[in-house]
Amino acid sequence: MTSKETVTWLQERTALGTLEAEVLNAIAQQIEEQIIPPKTNLVTENTSPEALYILVEGQLESDSSNQANPTLAIGFLPGAVIHLQELLLDQPTQRTITTVTECHVWVVPAEKFRALVSEYPEIFQAVSRQLAQELADLTSAFTYEQERTIALRPYLVTKARRGIVGTSRYAVRLREEIRSSASDRKSVLIFGEPGLEKDNIAALIHFGSKQRREPIIKINCGILQTSGADLFGRAGGKPGLLEWLGEGTLVLNNIQETPPELLPQIVKLIKNSTYNPVTRSEEAAAPRTSRARIMIVSEKNQPQIERCIGHNIKVPPLRVRKADIKAQVDYYISLYTQARGIHKQKLAPEALRRLQSYDFPGNLKELESLVQRAIVQAGSARELTEEIFWSADTKKKRFRVNLLNVYPDLRKFLRSSWWTDRINYGFTVTAFALIVAVLFIGPQTRDRNFALNLFWAWWWAFFLFLFPFLGRVWCAVCPFMIYGEITQKLSLWLFPRKLKRWNRELAEKWGGWFLFGLFTLIFLWEELWDLENTAYLSACLLLLITAGAMIFSAIFERRFWCRYLCPIGGMNGLFAKLSMTELRAQQGICSATCTTYQCYKGGPQKGEGMETNGCPLYSHPAQLEDNKDCVLCMTCLKACPHRSVEFNLRPPGIELWTTHVPHTYEVALLFLLLGGVYLHRLPELQSWLGLHLDLTQFWQHLGLSLLALIIPVAVPLAAYGLSNFGFWILNFRLSSSKISNTNEQNTITPHASSRQSRRQVPQVGKPAHGTASPTQWLQNLKSKIQNRRKPKAFIELAYGYLPLVLGGNLAHYLRLSLEEGGRIIPVTFATFGLNGEQLPVLVAHPAVVDFLQGVTLIFSVLLTIVLTQKIARQPMRSLFWQHLAAITLGASMWAIIVS
Ligand code: SF4
Ligand code: SF4
Ligand code: SF4
Repeated sequence: MTSKETVTWLQERTALGTLEAEVLNAIAQQIEEQIIPPKTNLVTENTSPEALYILVEGQLESDSSNQANPTLAIGFLPGAVIHLQELLLDQPTQRTITTVTECHVWVVPAEKFRALVSEYPEIFQAVSRQLAQELADLTSAFTYEQERTIALRPYLVTKARRGIVGTSRYAVRLREEIRSSASDRKSVLIFGEPGLEKDNIAALIHFGSKQRREPIIKINCGILQTSGADLFGRAGGKPGLLEWLGEGTLVLNNIQETPPELLPQIVKLIKNSTYNPVTRSEEAAAPRTSRARIMIVSEKNQPQIERCIGHNIKVPPLRVRKADIKAQVDYYISLYTQARGIHKQKLAPEALRRLQSYDFPGNLKELESLVQRAIVQAGSARELTEEIFWSADTKKKRFRVNLLNVYPDLRKFLRSSWWTDRINYGFTVTAFALIVAVLFIGPQTRDRNFALNLFWAWWWAFFLFLFPFLGRVWCAVCPFMIYGEITQKLSLWLFPRKLKRWNRELAEKWGGWFLFGLFTLIFLWEELWDLENTAYLSACLLLLITAGAMIFSAIFERRFWCRYLCPIGGMNGLFAKLSMTELRAQQGICSATCTTYQCYKGGPQKGEGMETNGCPLYSHPAQLEDNKDCVLCMTCLKACPHRSVEFNLRPPGIELWTTHVPHTYEVALLFLLLGGVYLHRLPELQSWLGLHLDLTQFWQHLGLSLLALIIPVAVPLAAYGLSNFGFWILNFRLSSSKISNTNEQNTITPHASSRQSRRQVPQVGKPAHGTASPTQWLQNLKSKIQNRRKPKAFIELAYGYLPLVLGGNLAHYLRLSLEEGGRIIPVTFATFGLNGEQLPVLVAHPAVVDFLQGVTLIFSVLLTIVLTQKIARQPMRSLFWQHLAAITLGASMWAIIVS
């Protein structure tokens, strides 16, 4: 550029344009050209100015530590003259200036410029004039700012209260989303449950953005005027908040409370950044453009808003980020102890565990107030313990008492080697072998073989009696599986040395039916070959189950047989659902604290967790929802390093009406066991029904046995069919009477005389409910009727018969147990060929046995009715047929068992 061109450029493009051409020419003579790369520091704040800079091309930006004067942090475009005032008034630089892009800059060194000023005093005068003009502008801007501040002050958010605490993946993702939203000017929807400090997230986004010096205001949508005047202002009148806000951020808090009339305007504002100020006339005012950034805070996702929003942030509830609870509590403790000027308390590990197992419906706000209250209650204590901290119990844990906390000795026992290794390998393994040997080689009848007596008169009654108390506990000490475990160890040592993984999908699909089939065959075998009175066949039955356990343990990992295939295990699992105890782990602790899952996987000792091979049934105690999947072996209790495993006392069978998932094969097994009650009483059944079949004839015996197994299920099925039939008939009558009623009334004119008809019936062409047509209304009515009364599926209701099936079987074995169990001593003598006739016996009187059997059956029927009610959650009259079926079955059992 020639010197003439330089002068022209200075005149046209810079603040020096008011100077004479001669002066400008003198300045042009002193100019040095410089090209400065991007992101280079040109000037540092609070230093002596080195030169006068004139930006010819490129872009500069400045920043300043002086927060009181926001005009110091600005951008410079070509034509900007930098350091004119500082050089003239001999001041230090007021800001740091850096290049945004590559910049072409003219530089007049400070000394040369000062020489020019002394030579041409008009430079000083021109700048004084310019400064006076700037001062006038500033005064006007200041007045505007004052008015703006007054208008915005009630809504101003001055800072973000806190950052996002924690290191969980949810916390990390939330921080990323905040960062990404802060990097542009798009609108943001922040939604999540109450108590998640969503408005603080809006503030974090604003103060993390480049517009952090602009104001941010928060308005609760519930208090907005229906006209929108406070937000949009009045045409030709008072400006609205949007206008005052300029480039700031508008946070619309609780958008769900916005007056519905206002919502389309807000959607328009988000979509097009335009709005119409409010007018008094019908005519809409000319639209205005808003430069404000809009953030919406809501408790629910807003489909209407979501469609036009730039960023959508879903804030995760505290219950899914339990890993952050510790950090969050520590943060709150620091906050409040500092504010109160007291020493910082520590959080006890049990208190943390308890907090982690709670779901916090009130989220962060609830946790914060819990911590505050705990600090106040703790007083001068150095630790915040579980008792101080906790007052509320979780909904899920309601009605549960952890017996391991109530009885610490029980925990000790269950974690000791006594449960179950010493019992199993020190006693059961040998006792079982002896029993099987005695069954094979001893006398073959029950009155002369103590092993047979033990099996039929003791074992059955005892374990049926145990189910309501301890569920599937038999499987923890079961001899069949001990031999299975021994075989597994041998197979790993000798052959095939490698165990197969489970095909769970296939096993879930067919395992239940396999065990159902096996149980049916066992029942028939037991009845047709009189196993109760044939010792060697009873031994074969025991060996058959043991063989299954051994074969499958040699092939598959852990206890595949027990989980899916064992018929006794299937029965145990079914009756265990009724138990008043359960083994579970605290999900909160497992998800927040545990990384090893030793209860499930097994592994070496860790903390108080012992070395184990993990759950033999591949169940995770934190995910257990059904007692059938737990054999109470307590491996998980031993393995868990975090004391998460609980052994709870609970309302008996609670899972059946809360978390239960029904299975067809289980229902089939349940009714097979129901049939088993009748099968065991064929002679009594014959005489009760007046049949005269010859049970010594195999085929007649088999036929009647099959009928005894099949027929009882017909009663619940018929009852279900009848209640369904009744339901459909009722619905049909209800809906057809409604339809005919309504059709009649629909023919009435809109001016029908009956007030009743106007109130209840949609008039033709003018539906009574919203915009639905009469046909739709009728359909809605029909579906409402159907939904309200629809019975539950049979597969769900069938579990209601569980107490009756258990009670019936128990009542059957009670006679054996109370009349023969007490003869065990003379029978033992007889087993070894000795005469024990004179030895003591303990036998109940037949009337006592009858009484106990009767009470058991009555109690079972009552429990069945209660459980069916609980499962169905329907009025008693809707379940009339089911209850009648239970009473019928109970009465029939009474007839063949008691009398
Ligand atoms: S499932 Fe069968 S084999 Fe396994 S422990 Fe239970 S009864 Fe024994
Ligand atoms: S080892 Fe304990 S804390 Fe870990 S998952 Fe299992 S029960 Fe939960
Ligand atoms: S959940 Fe625990 S007690 Fe139940 S079977 Fe598994 S390891 Fe044993």
